[in-house]
Amino acid sequence: MSSSKIKVGVLGATGAVGQRFVQMLQGHPWFEISALCASERSAGKRYADACNWNLRGDMPAHLRDMVLLECEPGFDAELVFSALPSESATAIEQRFAAAGYGVCSNSRNHRYDADVPLLIPEVNPEHLGLLEIQKQRRGWSGFIVTNPNCSTTHLISALHPLHVRFGVSKVFVVTMQAVSGAGYPGVSSMDILDNIVPYISGEEEKMEQKEPQKLLGTFDGTQVRYADLVLSAHCNRVPVRNGHLEAVSVEFKDKPAQEEILQAWAEYQPLAQRLRLPSAPQPAVIYLAAQDRPQPRLDRLAGTVPGMATVVGRLRPDPLFHYKFLVLGHNTIRGAAGGSLLNAELIVAQGYLGSTAAALARSLEVA
Ligand code: NAP
Repeated sequence: MSSSKIKVGVLGATGAVGQRFVQMLQGHPWFEISALCASERSAGKRYADACNWNLRGDMPAHLRDMVLLECEPGFDAELVFSALPSESATAIEQRFAAAGYGVCSNSRNHRYDADVPLLIPEVNPEHLGLLEIQKQRRGWSGFIVTNPNCSTTHLISALHPLHVRFGVSKVFVVTMQAVSGAGYPGVSSMDILDNIVPYISGEEEKMEQKEPQKLLGTFDGTQVRYADLVLSAHCNRVPVRNGHLEAVSVEFKDKPAQEEILQAWAEYQPLAQRLRLPSAPQPAVIYLAAQDRPQPRLDRLAGTVPGMATVVGRLRPDPLFHYKFLVLGHNTIRGAAGGSLLNAELIVAQGYLGSTAAALARSLEVA
């Protein structure tokens, strides 16, 4: 293990999202894991003994013997990735931020705090300006940055290129969400096989009332002014392992021609892609022209960084709204751990983890 990289910890490392962090951090050009943390039930055990690894491919060999720590500050790292359940995330993440760590969190607990960025690097990188305000207001030397819910992430990734050109005013979305979104072991097989569960607790509220408006909102130097758009969401759990499919109808302030929508997606080159961040897919949004795509099993890993792109297809006129199309995205990669990882890369590249970390990342890029 190189000692020149930026040291990071994973909170909740034994869980579904925590394992994804561990997998995605393996061989990362900028980051190396210096600590794995879990509940007091697992602390003191070897990672290989406490973690029921359920991802394709082996647990990274060099981490098998790493002894799990409790989720308390004190270890050598500049940044921590949090995959903690919402019941415990608030206090633990705040303790880490107060102790000087940068916290990139998957949990919902701080997403709606006025001074906490809810970030998709392609969509609202300027919201990182909230970090100075957060640190001052809370007296922290570290900070918390969050990423949105998995279904919101891909919906807004597809809408953002259209919103900046034509102004999205109304959205109607029906989600078909994979079982891995409920963690492991998640929904019981008796509930989901041969079935669709037409309810996911809290999901519709997040998509309708909170996350899209903040993500597409404007940072005015002191606060984020929420975007003015109306959404209606129907969220369903379907018997798919990974990959959320969303059927979307959209109305715009200025109705574009169908070709202009395709052009907006094709020409989309946001900051994360221009900076060539290590986990940024090129392109960020992929349009599939075949009439029966995207499909979860076939397309969830499409693109240059598997699981990080948003895949769209079946763009056509909508008799109720202006246009309708499908959106597909990997829920535990870009929708969870990968989203946080890309956030961390933007944070480092933009100097929010300090000039030394930014210079180190630049030097590792060149090397
Ligand atoms: P999970 O599989 O239940 O894993 C939870 C992890 O947190 C485990 O490592 C567990 O350690 C640890 N933990 C539990 N209670 C703790 C406590 N009191 N103190 C310290 N550590 C504790 O959960 P998950 O599905 O990975 O989800 C993690 C977070 O990501 C949640 O907030 C979830 O809402 C969010 N999220 C999940 C997805 C998804 O697709 N699954 C997508 C987006 C966001 P032990 O093994 O020791 O119990």
